[in-house]
Amino acid sequence: MIIGVPKESYPGERRVALVPVVIPNLTKAGFAVVVESGAGAAGGYPDALYSDKGAKVLPDRAAVFAQADIIVQVLCYGSNDITGKADLPLMRRGQALIGFLRPLGSVEVIQQIAQTGVSSFAVELMPRTTRAQNMDALSSMATLCGYKAVLLAGVTLPKIFPMLTTAAGTITPARVFVIGAGVAGLQAIATARRLGAVVSAYDMRPAAKEQVQSLGGRFVELPIEAKNAQDVRGYGTAQDESFYAKQRELLGRAVAESDVVITTAVIPGKKAPVLITADMVKQMAAGSVIVDLAAERGGNCELTQAGKIVVEHDVRIIGQINLASEVPYHASQMYARNLTAFLTYMVKDAKLRLDSGDEIVRETLLTRDGEIVNPRVREFLALPELAGQGVK
Ligand code: NAD
Repeated sequence: MIIGVPKESYPGERRVALVPVVIPNLTKAGFAVVVESGAGAAGGYPDALYSDKGAKVLPDRAAVFAQADIIVQVLCYGSNDITGKADLPLMRRGQALIGFLRPLGSVEVIQQIAQTGVSSFAVELMPRTTRAQNMDALSSMATLCGYKAVLLAGVTLPKIFPMLTTAAGTITPARVFVIGAGVAGLQAIATARRLGAVVSAYDMRPAAKEQVQSLGGRFVELPIEAKNAQDVRGYGTAQDESFYAKQRELLGRAVAESDVVITTAVIPGKKAPVLITADMVKQMAAGSVIVDLAAERGGNCELTQAGKIVVEHDVRIIGQINLASEVPYHASQMYARNLTAFLTYMVKDAKLRLDSGDEIVRETLLTRDGEIVNPRVREFLALPELAGQGVK
């Protein structure tokens, strides 16, 4: 079985799906690896490192697709809506495709992927079980986004983060407020604490309180309760607009008192809730910074523009997207380890085991034999149930 690693084509993307260090593990499991020349260069992994570990470096993308039984990418078509479509003609029936595919995104796009006949696996659909923890690429990338968001805030804020007692007087620490204490939010809390900020955080899931406190953050309690705040997979659930309106009202003070606000509140497959209005931004001190990690999903701040820095009322609202790509060396390393765990789990007798009885396979398999086969995705996209639903 040959695994192919094309160069990422999304503009500005610096990650690569496999790094040289995982190749011996894949070889041991019976795989061979072919890599498009230059695929790892932007992440700090030159071609020679791949060759040293036994991978074959191929000069062009089409050759990688032609030789590989399994294509691994970071942003496949689906999550790459700018240049991803160009890969469709290179895919073929029976070939496997693994990567970020945005399975709850556009039905047309997923149908186009299905029509190529590839068996595609969306890493976003990885079940959140102990067994699949080392395959969970969404968590790996969220961790890095949380870290990077704090660094961005740090270089933008006209203040320093730590408290300093100097001959020139005492500097009070910066106040950082994190909204949404999932994987990204928790890493943001830990990073801001390490830099010396005073950190508080809020999440609508009551379970987050203890996690925030264990990282040394203060949990901001609001006198409202979300209905079924958490779904079976641990994700936050969508609430009605009156809940969000109440949240905005109650969050106003905590936002106004903060130098930095980092927002990470998202709901799978839905537009992110607006938790910070333009009015709330106006109440913040001049020079304050908001880093909106939900920017790509519509933003948690009303003023956020995806991919841009907006300055309003002297507050900088950073809507930069694809932050994990800004730390491509480690992002690629983590992603490659997640994929390696997934691939070695799925391989049996030199074949990928497409066994519907296996939870990890069943939940991640998005398309097969020309159809969108994932029951959860079909239901979400309002597609009729397939006859004999599931994989063979
Ligand atoms: P996420 O990226 O989907 O969302 C980020 C956070 O925003 C969540 O904590 C969510 O509750 C919060 N949020 C959504 N709407 C909100 C609102 N209106 N107000 C306030 N907060 C709001 O979440 P995530 O990072 O994927 O993590 C969610 C949970 O799943 C965490 O507890 C995490 O530890 C857990 N998790 C478990 C596993 C595993 O068991 N293998 C893996 C990853 C994450």
